[in-house]
Amino acid sequence: MRILILTLILASCAALDRNVTVVQSSAPYVIALGTAQDGGLPQLGCEKACCSAARLDPSKRRLRACLLLVDPSTGHRWLFEATPDLPEQLELAKGHGAARSRSSSGRAAPFDGIFLTHAHLGHYTGLAHLGREAYGAHAQPVYASERMCAFLSSHGPWSQLVELGQIECRVVSPGAPLELREGLSVEAIRVPHREEFSDTYAWIIRGPSRSLLFLPDIDKWERFEQDITELVKEMDYSLLDATFFGPDELPGRDMAEIPHPFIVESIARFSELSKEDRAGVHFLHLNHSNPAADPESSAAATVREAGHHVCAEGQRFEL
Ligand SMILES: [Zn+2]
Ligand SMILES: [Zn+2]
Repeated sequence: MRILILTLILASCAALDRNVTVVQSSAPYVIALGTAQDGGLPQLGCEKACCSAARLDPSKRRLRACLLLVDPSTGHRWLFEATPDLPEQLELAKGHGAARSRSSSGRAAPFDGIFLTHAHLGHYTGLAHLGREAYGAHAQPVYASERMCAFLSSHGPWSQLVELGQIECRVVSPGAPLELREGLSVEAIRVPHREEFSDTYAWIIRGPSRSLLFLPDIDKWERFEQDITELVKEMDYSLLDATFFGPDELPGRDMAEIPHPFIVESIARFSELSKEDRAGVHFLHLNHSNPAADPESSAAATVREAGHHVCAEGQRFEL
């Protein structure tokens, strides 16, 4: 009898496991392929403990902030940001979405679309890897603002990618969601951020069950025309600019020239939210100097105590 009960329990567990697997494999999901600020971790020229530790121990490295959105039901996949770490991030994307094949006109676009936020080092320069000197992509769709698309089309070396048909720029306007398939959409929102070459977007991804905000760069929450606290409440996951932990992080550098919301400011701002809403906040775009990048640090403990998370590489968000 005991054996029979055990057999039944095991059989039902296996069925449950299978069900879970089926549900997970058909729902769209997002994977964080990178979580660092534009300079990466370790950063060029930094000999301090933050970067020397990461050079010695690869588990302490962080690639530039980048997300992969996967729809297992169609095999389609989309990249958010073309970072200088694109070659490594393409490797990490292996096995997610359908395999790509080579066509006579060149290599098939590695993604069904690449969504860009803006024209700063860590967010778009990886496009160069799709050009003649490297991958030689055929018709990789790139979604961005009108100004970002104009920048790419009119400035070398990016304009060569456009002229050779290696990338195809597609303008997305704020507030006009792009339907990727029924129940899966991407919407742009405009964000204030140093606008030397382009304006800046954040992206909202809405899946059948959950929504995710990707906002890696913004000047300050006060300058945002939307109320970030309300937006966090509305979203299931908010992956937010956490370039710096606090105001004293870069001695000798004028932080007013590189404004970002400090993690301590965000924690204070979100303290009014419920525990559940606070748990949706995942900090990313961490500068090499940000102590919260080290999970063992007191800064990372402060984030956890506030009910938030520091986004981990490989972290998966079910939509
Ligand atoms: Zn950035
Ligand atoms: Zn930026």
